Amino acid sequence: MTVRIPHLINGAWRTDVGHDVVAVTDPTNNQTIWEVACATAEDIDSAVAAAKEAFALWQNVPVPERARLMLRYQHLLKEHHDELGAIVAKETGKTIADAKGDVWRGIEVAEQAANISSLMMGETVGNVARGVDTHSWIQPLGVCVGITPFNFPAMIPLWMFPMALACGNAFILKPSEQDPMTAVRLAELLLEAGAPKDILQVVHGRKEQVDQLISHPDVKAVSFVGSVPVGQHIYRTATDHMKRAQCFAGAKNHMVIMPDANPQQVVSQLVGASVGAAGQRCMAISVAVFVGSASNMIESLRDELAKVKPGHHSDASADYGPLISSQAKARVLQLIAIGKEEAECLLDGSDCTVPGYPEGNWVGPTLFRGVTPEMTIYQEEIFGPVLCCVEVDSLDEALQLVNNNRYGNGTSIFTKSGAAARKYQQEVEVGQVGINISIPVPLPFFSFTGWKGSFYGDLHAYGKQGVRFYTETKTVTSRWPEDEIVETNMTISLK
Ligand code: NAD
Repeated sequence: MTVRIPHLINGAWRTDVGHDVVAVTDPTNNQTIWEVACATAEDIDSAVAAAKEAFALWQNVPVPERARLMLRYQHLLKEHHDELGAIVAKETGKTIADAKGDVWRGIEVAEQAANISSLMMGETVGNVARGVDTHSWIQPLGVCVGITPFNFPAMIPLWMFPMALACGNAFILKPSEQDPMTAVRLAELLLEAGAPKDILQVVHGRKEQVDQLISHPDVKAVSFVGSVPVGQHIYRTATDHMKRAQCFAGAKNHMVIMPDANPQQVVSQLVGASVGAAGQRCMAISVAVFVGSASNMIESLRDELAKVKPGHHSDASADYGPLISSQAKARVLQLIAIGKEEAECLLDGSDCTVPGYPEGNWVGPTLFRGVTPEMTIYQEEIFGPVLCCVEVDSLDEALQLVNNNRYGNGTSIFTKSGAAARKYQQEVEVGQVGINISIPVPLPFFSFTGWKGSFYGDLHAYGKQGVRFYTETKTVTSRWPEDEIVETNMTISLK
């Protein structure tokens, strides 16, 4: 019998809830590995009510105690790193190294949540008027919700709930229905670390469940990571219901290669950043912009990409795994077919097989040259192992191309020139910039700062902005007059 994935509602792991059962498949062979039922409206109401009740107590738990929970949690996550990596590999098809990387980048955020005490510090000014002092406190919001995508089933939930809980909120996680088991294990470990009952709920589902959560009157804030149309829908709906919202969406990330860049470094970095994880990363490089004679590197790029082999996660020599689903594969193959009409295809991964796994969602490394901005393969986020090469004459032209793109998640420049790098970092309209670094994902003491069409909201994930997102500032102004002093003030000025 297929294992049914449990919901964590009202302090209990429950498999008896929900309707509409969804099969979770192994992307290396499309066999069902487990199944998940979508929560009913009553299940969601019950999760929100339990979270609200838990918040009433949790918000008053001293900050150092909340930090200690996160210290125990990050320790447990590290102890279970291999096991979590194996679950991620099983349900996403990622290589073990990549799956463990997914977990590790999440552990780093849990480590940061253990530093919450200093991040919750407010501000004080004594004597703002005669005998009057003002201080501010940072206080939690209440029940917060997180909706997460399939491509980082460990890291992205961990971007959200450790920070939200450390700030004193209760949290409801709705993981991707395509790989929900990782989230279940992450929640079990939080309970093992000693989390009080109900501060975290895990509910499963799709649009219907998400829509109920993001419009629920008792939910204060919504964090979302996923595709552009869904991100826009969630941002509009959540803010329409007066919630605070942060929505991280799709991307098209450019790497600019100057003629003076080291060709071996460029090629090896481009290979990993473009087709690593089968290109299913929101920070993957999907466009390589060669400036002037840098385009001489395209031939060796093709040769190196041709050596990259997808494979099963039990094969330690596999460079990356399959796409998440047969639908995702069909979509990527269709975009490659369009690309072959539009541009010059130097390497075509459409017809890719992996011995022993004939039904897997494999796509080989694919390289296009002569790509221009109006082409579909340039406009669309392909989310597969496909790299588009654009050739331009100058750094100014490269900047114009990148700045005209509707997305702004990540970009990088490869050069030996400090002047070129300085100009690029200053003038590029993208929120995360790498200089001779291909995937510049900030560590969690900074924030994940996508711009433009890659992000809807004001405050980004983790770091100081994450704390601001999950908290409210209260400003207290006080006077302690001597008993004999009695003053009447007919104005609003403090005297
Ligand atoms: P998705 O938008 O299909 O799904 C994300 C979540 O939204 C899932 O939990 C899903 O159940 C839910 N959902 C799906 N359709 C919905 C609807 N109509 N209404 C409400 N909820 C809905 O995204 P995905 O395919 O799981 O993830 C891949 C996408 O995520 C890519 O576009 C990628 O760029 C993006 N992503 C962005 C970042 C970032 O930081 N900017 C990070 C990772 C992934």
